[in-house]
Amino acid sequence: MKTIHVTQPDLPPLDDFLPLLRDIWDNRVLTNGGGFHQRFEAALAEYLGVPHISLFTNGTIALVTALQSLRITGEVITTPYSFVATSHSLVWNGIKPVFADIDPVTLNLDPARIEALITPQTTAILPVHCYGTPCDVDAIQHIADNYNLRVIYDAAHAFGIRRLGERGGSILLHGDLSVLSFHATKAFNTFEGGAIVSPDAKTKQRIDHLKNFGFVNQTTVVATGINGKMSEFNAALGLLQLQHVERAIEKRAAIERRYRSLLQGIPGLRMLAEPVDATRNHSYFPVLIGPEFPLSRDEVFQRLRDGGIMARRYFYPLISDFPMYRGLPSARAELLPVAQEVARQILCLPIYPALTDEDVDRVAGSLRTLVS
Ligand SMILES: *Cc1c(COP(=O)(O)O)cnc(C)c1O
Repeated sequence: MKTIHVTQPDLPPLDDFLPLLRDIWDNRVLTNGGGFHQRFEAALAEYLGVPHISLFTNGTIALVTALQSLRITGEVITTPYSFVATSHSLVWNGIKPVFADIDPVTLNLDPARIEALITPQTTAILPVHCYGTPCDVDAIQHIADNYNLRVIYDAAHAFGIRRLGERGGSILLHGDLSVLSFHATKAFNTFEGGAIVSPDAKTKQRIDHLKNFGFVNQTTVVATGINGKMSEFNAALGLLQLQHVERAIEKRAAIERRYRSLLQGIPGLRMLAEPVDATRNHSYFPVLIGPEFPLSRDEVFQRLRDGGIMARRYFYPLISDFPMYRGLPSARAELLPVAQEVARQILCLPIYPALTDEDVDRVAGSLRTLVS
């Protein structure tokens, strides 16, 4: 039986990539802001509807650099329900993560939990637009303004997301900075890659210096920067991927529609509410296996695996339960009841453009069989 993986990276036709590779071979410009880097950066800013963007080698280095660029220190309030890189980027800056519980509907940082965690050391909030569902950006900004805090969004899941009824509308324009990931498993990929969206040219310039060791010219270094530069290979690939991403998202949308109709009405299986005020990129299809389901989430996970269906438990464990975080005062399980429960119930089902209707039917059919 064919194994169905949770995701499968989307690739453009190889023949379309070869001429771009030939260009790189002919020109011998491999990195440091070459032609493809410049073209991809401009095309991406235009596609996303943002004024300024800086390409990076990956999303994690972009997160670390975003925090550096705003000189964030002390404590930062963040979500335990994310990929570990969110909190790791704080620790790499000598910052203490402070975990706040999540909202049970959006699974994003719950704005109502933030204020009680603010101390004189708090300098910023680091929320995640989990599964591409926008955070309550208005409530978060309101708190940030009241307490003079910065807001950096981990937008690794939020490629192309727009809020409806908002001019321009890109979710990436909220907060002080937004950070994207173009890792192979994401809705838009350059094999490895990432980016920071800046509100103005001056901020982008500082970030561009930081991603190149702090160099502003051949002999002047203005900051202890890092090497976060995207190579010409990844930039050329990104330029090509941009031509296909719209179609890929449409295919993902069709898969989600099929799942939703097939899985409707299964007792104990909850699908997330679809945001009504934002676009989607369908990069994940999470379901929650609740207590009314005859099997536990882990039993469902195992049964699907036995049938060759590689669903994934993300996010489980919570970041706050990993050994380097669980000693923090804010990491205690009883303080994060919603995140704890969601981590126990979550299961991400396979979704990617090449997934066939038969595959979707097999996944949904397997889940139905487990209830009967
Ligand atoms: C993928 C991901 C990252 C890390 O991005 P990389 O490009 O893999 O370094 C950070 N945060 C979240 C929420 C992610 O899903």
